[in-house]
Amino acid sequence: MLDKVLIANRGEIALRILRACKELGIKTVAVHSQADRELMHVRLADEVVCIGPAPSAQSYLHIPALISAAEVTDASAIHPGYGFLSENADFAEQVERSGFRFIGPRAETIRLMGDKVSAIRAMKAAGVPTVPGSNGPLGDDDDTNLATARRIGYPVIIKAASGGGGRGMRVVHTEGYLLSAISITRTEAHSAFGDGTVYMEKFLEKPRHVEVQVLADGQGNAIHLYDRDCSLQRRHQKVLEEAPAPGIDPDARAQVLEACRNACIDINYRGAGTFEFLYENGEFFFIEMNTRVQVEHPVTEMVTGVDIVKEQLRIASGWPLSITQDDVKLDGHAFECRINAEDARTFMPSPGRVTLFHPPGGLGVRMDSHMYTGYSVPPHYDSLIGKLITWGEDRDIALTRMRNALDELLVEGIKTNIDLHKDLVRDSYFRQGEVTIHYLEKKLES
Ligand code: ADP
Repeated sequence: MLDKVLIANRGEIALRILRACKELGIKTVAVHSQADRELMHVRLADEVVCIGPAPSAQSYLHIPALISAAEVTDASAIHPGYGFLSENADFAEQVERSGFRFIGPRAETIRLMGDKVSAIRAMKAAGVPTVPGSNGPLGDDDDTNLATARRIGYPVIIKAASGGGGRGMRVVHTEGYLLSAISITRTEAHSAFGDGTVYMEKFLEKPRHVEVQVLADGQGNAIHLYDRDCSLQRRHQKVLEEAPAPGIDPDARAQVLEACRNACIDINYRGAGTFEFLYENGEFFFIEMNTRVQVEHPVTEMVTGVDIVKEQLRIASGWPLSITQDDVKLDGHAFECRINAEDARTFMPSPGRVTLFHPPGGLGVRMDSHMYTGYSVPPHYDSLIGKLITWGEDRDIALTRMRNALDELLVEGIKTNIDLHKDLVRDSYFRQGEVTIHYLEKKLES
């Protein structure tokens, strides 16, 4: 087992990783920026290193500072969490070259999946269903591009191969706009991601976002932990998630779960990962793979009983998976509300001191948060201050528990989106299940 892990992240996920390390008897190193001295996991870690000033570029994204922190503390591995450097292949490579274990897939796998064109190719080859599209990057020949769009059928979406965070995409409804949309997206992609490669996909009009969690040990074993629905999104940011995804065609589900497992073995995947799909009319269409632990991983933990972060640590220690596919049993239903320090209506960030924090409790209620009364939310980072997760024997019970838990949750001193969640868990369409990715934005407009 790894001896000492450096946690290259902050906030709730840093605390989540610290808890898993402690359970496995692994020593921990917390690194933090000058704005983050008050973080909960910093108080609990065995060793603490300040890695730089508040801006992420000079701290959590500053590779030399992280590697020196690992050197001075003699850590054996680095856990990147999510966001920051978690999907940066160069970081993974430098970590391993410096003699530490990167807790995630190999750099080449991150690179393969980070380029969406190569990711889609690899998935197709492994038998994972993909969105009908250009099957590769678009060239400069206008006639070929017009013919490709005609073959796919309008509307189409032009996407940047290196895009992320919902940026670098443009929907085209009519042929007259196609060529300019390609050239604008290309220019934007070039300046935003340093790579002007774009590709084309059929634009699905009423899809749901359904994703599959996997674990693989890089030693030939891979399992899936079923699926999650993350359709409630605003500006491509997930707001409320659940597991399993409700109302999925059982045959389509069984096929896609098996395809994801096979794909992991095909690409010799190592670690935790997520295959993201759009789901429409009973069919799954792969859009991208995330090669890290995700914010919404707890809903899967609640319905499978598998501790995903502990599995990541075991895999990074070189152990084979501790469970087989047959050991994974779905039990009940879970929801997660992302609690953000932001105005519930305008979504403006609301940093500042938390004058009162009272987490909810009771059977099936889990609060993953680094917050405490007196904690000051710094203005420099993501506004996520906690995740409220509920489990129930079925969807109704889990949702009732979420309604009750949200009523119990108190965060005072800063603005939060708790009222938005209270509204969502009472929304009649959401309660029925199966809302599309456009539902929340439409609801917010009305
Ligand atoms: P990113 O890496 O920026 O998150 P994704 O490829 O995951 O990019 O797409 C982000 C979101 O854009 C999806 O969740 C979906 O809402 C929308 N989207 C992407 N591709 C399509 C498509 N072919 N049809 C409809 N919506 C799409």
